[in-house]
Amino acid sequence: MANPMFVNDERMVEMIFDYCRQRLALDPVALDFGGTRESFDEVLSGLIGESGNDPDAVLALFSDHLATAVVSCDSPRFLAFIPAAPTKAALLFDMIVSCSSLQGTSWLEAAGAVAAENQVLEFLAELAGLPPGAGGCFVSGGSIANLSALVVARDTAALRRGAAPRRPRIAVSEEAHASVEKALRILSVEPFVVPSVDHRLTGDALAAALERDDHPDDVIGVVATAGTTNAGIVDDLTGISAVARQRALWFHIDAAYGGPGLFTPLVRDRYAGIENADSFVIDPHKWLYAPFDCAALVYRQPALAKAVHAQEASYLDVIHDEDNPVWNPSDYAVHLTRRARGLPLWFSLAVHGAGAYRDAVETVLRTAWASAELITATPHLELVREPELSIVLFRRRGWSASDYDDWSVRLLAQQVGFVTPTSWEGETVARLAFLHPGTTLTMVEEILATMA
Ligand SMILES: *Cc1c(COP(=O)(O)O)cnc(C)c1O
Repeated sequence: MANPMFVNDERMVEMIFDYCRQRLALDPVALDFGGTRESFDEVLSGLIGESGNDPDAVLALFSDHLATAVVSCDSPRFLAFIPAAPTKAALLFDMIVSCSSLQGTSWLEAAGAVAAENQVLEFLAELAGLPPGAGGCFVSGGSIANLSALVVARDTAALRRGAAPRRPRIAVSEEAHASVEKALRILSVEPFVVPSVDHRLTGDALAAALERDDHPDDVIGVVATAGTTNAGIVDDLTGISAVARQRALWFHIDAAYGGPGLFTPLVRDRYAGIENADSFVIDPHKWLYAPFDCAALVYRQPALAKAVHAQEASYLDVIHDEDNPVWNPSDYAVHLTRRARGLPLWFSLAVHGAGAYRDAVETVLRTAWASAELITATPHLELVREPELSIVLFRRRGWSASDYDDWSVRLLAQQVGFVTPTSWEGETVARLAFLHPGTTLTMVEEILATMA
């Protein structure tokens, strides 16, 4: 008799599809809450053992006790960290990727999936102004993308500069994302920290810091951020790229959050210089409305990345044919087996067109900027700085750190919003991260009203 796990159970199919249908139809999605350890111990106790359970019961347990204990990052009232707002098309196609076991490791195994993913990567490369031939792969997130790009920066340094660095260092500002610092630690590459100018890394500051240093030749690369996660600030990409070219530095741009600003003339000029990147990352699971987990990693010269990342093993020889080179996404990052995670975005972009994405990004920017005006017009509130992109930092006059913490807990408890404080120049402040086109100014007013 066939193993029951591999028999298609129509009843279970209906049950799961019904659940998905209902979840997709929620408008708006409820914020929901987190949970406590104890509450899960009780519902999960004894669930996994020698014999199984009725799928209805397990799904009910999930939907009643677990799903509601996850703050919905796709709620329009989720304004903490970086929210998410996958398109329906992308979510639905994600089910196809799952149900078809679509992987995207090598051309040999998955040419069709890889061709579609590459179409999106080429589109993003062109949007950034990189020359034809640029390419890369989709990885799970900005963190892995940053790590993968910096491995290439390190391992191609000798080739690029004619000599191996004594002790490789990579220039960053204090505003670089934590994952960059972590990547450097993993790589045993020291950060060369350049003081930022009003929280921006500039070409002049980089040049001056190199000038002052005793061993500037040890600095082999620079990481710029196009949209800091804390405040949405775009570094001086043009200035940095000029220094990078002059000194043969690898120029990596972390646009994990901010990259989608490239879609709109409202902010496109802030990204001038991105066309000079040796590598960049944009997280479609953030502001390009793709489901988790999806980060686009693009190299100007993918061959350099391939020389560093391709895995050699006898059983893998068949995917690397020297005489007839093919595109294996596994060759461009620190991974081998991978889900064809670029396909949900591919489907949604193909269905809706880039214009719909531009509209969504513009809607979000306008809501963020209108919220900043609202804050400025409210006497007890004060804007920390004018938002460049869609992140708004502001303070409630007279509040201490614990006031912000209490307020944040209260907002979630009342399901008005999920907003968490951050710190700015040593001070605790409030932070709104906009990304969902369904977030309205009325919702923002409701949130601000709780700070009276
Ligand atoms: C979110 C973010 C990252 C990390 O990306 P993950 O997808 O969470 O791994 C890196 N850099 C910046 C600027 C980000 O906003």
